[in-house]
Order: sequence, then C-alpha cells, then structure tokens
Amino acid sequence: MKHKTIIEPFRIKSVEPIYVTTEEEREDLLKKAHYNTFLLQSEHVIIDFLTDSGTSAMSAEQWAGIMRGDESYAGSKSWERMQNAVKNLTGMDYILPTHQGRAAERIIYGYLGGKGKTFISNTHFDTTRANIEFSGAEALDIAIDESNDTSLIHPFKGNINTQRLKDLILEKGAQNIGAVILTVTNNSGGGQPVSMKNTREVSDICKKHKVLFLLDCCRVAENAYFIKHREDGFENKTYEEIAQEMFSLTDGAVMSAKKDALVNMGGFLALRNKKIAQACTNLLIITEGFTTYGGLSGRDMEAIAIGLKEIFDPAYLRYRIKSTAYLGEHLHKMGVPVMMPIGGHAVYIDAKKLYDHIPVDQYPGQALACELYLKGGIRTVEIGSVMFGKYDENGKLIPASMELVRLAIPRRVYTQSHIEYVIETFQEILDYKQKVKGYKIVEEAKILRHFTAHFEKIN
Ligand SMILES: *Cc1c(COP(=O)(O)O)cnc(C)c1O
Repeated sequence: MKHKTIIEPFRIKSVEPIYVTTEEEREDLLKKAHYNTFLLQSEHVIIDFLTDSGTSAMSAEQWAGIMRGDESYAGSKSWERMQNAVKNLTGMDYILPTHQGRAAERIIYGYLGGKGKTFISNTHFDTTRANIEFSGAEALDIAIDESNDTSLIHPFKGNINTQRLKDLILEKGAQNIGAVILTVTNNSGGGQPVSMKNTREVSDICKKHKVLFLLDCCRVAENAYFIKHREDGFENKTYEEIAQEMFSLTDGAVMSAKKDALVNMGGFLALRNKKIAQACTNLLIITEGFTTYGGLSGRDMEAIAIGLKEIFDPAYLRYRIKSTAYLGEHLHKMGVPVMMPIGGHAVYIDAKKLYDHIPVDQYPGQALACELYLKGGIRTVEIGSVMFGKYDENGKLIPASMELVRLAIPRRVYTQSHIEYVIETFQEILDYKQKVKGYKIVEEAKILRHFTAHFEKIN
C-alpha cells in the first residue's frame, strides 16, 4: 500500500523538555524583551521558529562522530574528512574551514570588496549584505520580477534576472563587479529555489565578462530537491548529483554549515582560483585559525562531514520539503497570506497583506511576530523594513520591498503535532487581526539593527 501520510523518517532518541508559558507570562516577557523576538530567552519560547540556522537535531551518527573528533592543531583526521566531503560536493580544490557562514563571507567579501565595487545577487542575505557594505562596496538585489508577487505561483522564484544582470555588468564595468552571488535557496527572498537553467545562464554571463561567480550554498540540498521535482531533465539524477552540477558552474562557494550540513556550528569557503584562495587563507589565519581547522573544533568538522552526506538522503529531503509545505498550505487554505509556493526551509507570511491597516513605517511584520509569541509562544522573525529598511536624509523610512514574517523550521526537531499547534494559533490571530496595532523603534544599532532594536507599541 502507498501511504498518504509522510512520517518523520527518524525515531527520537534524546529529548529536550519544553516549558509551556501562559499568555499572561508572555505578555510580561515580551515587554521585557522590548518587543524584539531576538531578545527573548529560549526557555520562554514554546515553538522556536526564529531560525533554521544551527538549530538542527544531529543524528546518532553525528554524535558518534563528535566522540571521534580529532582535536589536533594541524592536519587532524576530522579536517581530512570534512575537506574530502566538501571537495566531493563542490569539486573545488581550495577549502577553507570557518566557524560559520559570515566568517567565510567576511574573508571573501573583505578581499573582493572595497569602495567602488558592486556585488550582484538574486537577494543578498542580511549578513552577506552587511559584510559587503562594511567593506565599502555596494550590494544589489536583482531577483526576477515574479519574486516580488507573494501570491504568484512560479517554480523558481529565486532566479536572478539575467537581462538585468547583463545590463548591470555593462553599466558598472565588469572590472568593478566584486562577484555575482547566487543564493540557493533564496533565503531572504522567501526560501525560493533557483533553477539549473538560471544558474547556467548566470555562469555563462559571468564567464563571458570574466566576473567571479559564487554560490551562497547554505541550502543547496533543499534547492536540489526542487530541481529534481520541477525542472525537466533531472528526474533521474540524485540530489547530490544535482548539487554537484550546480557547483560545477561556479568559481567558488560560501556555506553556513548550520543549515544544510545539519550541524550546530560551522561553515566553509570553497574556491577554484589559487591566487584568491591564498589571499583568503592569510585572512583566515589572522582571525579564524590555522588552515586545517578555521574556527572549528575537530568534532565540529567530523559532524559536518557526516551531515553533508545525510542531507542528501531522499527520505529526509522528502520529509523536509513536504512538512514545510504542510504548514504553509494549511495556513494558505485558512486565508493567511503566505508567500506561494512554499519554499524549502520556512513559511513566509505577508504581513503587509495580513495587517493591511498598519502602515509600513509602523512595521506590520514586527506586529505579527509579537502576536505569534503572545498567543502561542511561537518565536519568528520579521524580514521586512525592520531588517532591511533604511532612512533618507530627512530621517524618513525607505521601506523594504516586502513585509514578511519568517517561520523557519529547524531540521528534524519538531513533530506534526507541534505544527498543528502553530496552525491553531494562526486561527486565533486571524480572528482579531483588525485590532492589532503597529510599533515604533525607540533604540537601534547602525548595522543589522533587527538583532538588538527596542520597540514600543503605538496606541
Ligand atoms: C545563514 C546564512 C548566512 C550566514 O551564515 P551564518 O552561519 O549565520 O554566519 C549567509 N547566507 C545565507 C543564505 C544564510 O542563510
């Protein structure tokens, strides 16, 4: 018999209790956290959808690998295993281990960036943009137009606008382009996948103009799932083969292993070019560590090597993508405006549509993140004008193009009943949505303000 129900393809071996707070407690806790979900303590959260980064449950094999970790300063066996796993996946010669994705970003964009340089991406992730702008360079997002319409169904909404890419390279001058960065899946653009066809086109354009082409490959396995099931010609390839083909089109890759390598900490930079790799290695040694560990323990590297294999397990990927879609499609049916189609690692709510009575300079996304915590103890993050908004000379907000709230789903952590609980919470949120008020920012940092900003409710 062919079952309709897709089960979690694992058994639970170790558990972590959840403390169930009351709504009264949460009202107080939220106020103490200045209405910023990043400032809540995790023990006060019931379902933590803040991020899928570093929050995965490791497998019994990975925990066994932790014990096997070789902590030698130089040339450890664990590094050899991680290096082999990354080389096998990326096909690149130079692998630099880093303690997480942004460390690799700081190294490569610090080297390639600087004043007068332009970086072009489908959508730069927040730390990517921050590292590029910190170097003095500019970061331009040019996803296809379809990506801005949250209700439009398109199989590869993460694609880059290739015509715009060609125009920009000519306009800026190829020598001024730091790199073209394809983020797969497109995290800040709704976790939407990028097709192989689009990747190939970008690769051809970059080759023609001699521009460096990098993959931000945090979720390359989830992206491979979508390619296999949505793009012609990939039905009979394995997920790993699809990912390998994608890497083969690029000059380098940056990865936060905290996503699709199923670990709690780690990352790497992979490069084909020796000269760039040597320059980056010097920067690595200054701030991260020696070349055979970067900022990582031997045990971390061991877990990454194992995670990079496990992530391509077809049963895992099917469960992963289908369970995310289960949540998203239920919300969609209930009338919650969600970004369609559902992406790989998260469900994105269009808060501008849900709270159409709250103006963007009163942060409707922040309002929804607060309501989800208040009603369900569910922690999420605003991806809108709090995260990406800027001010003009007069201090007026230049809003982000979308006001989203992200429900990022940790890998192998929550069961279906947790998800049902989230769906129930949304039912209540819908019932009183007109009564919800906006927020104002009363304290903020210059860079990545969403992490630490303080808010107040507008009455
Ligand atoms: C998480 C992430 C990063 C940064 O990685 P960290 O490990 O959090 O430093 C970069 N790009 C994308 C697309 C990400 O999702």
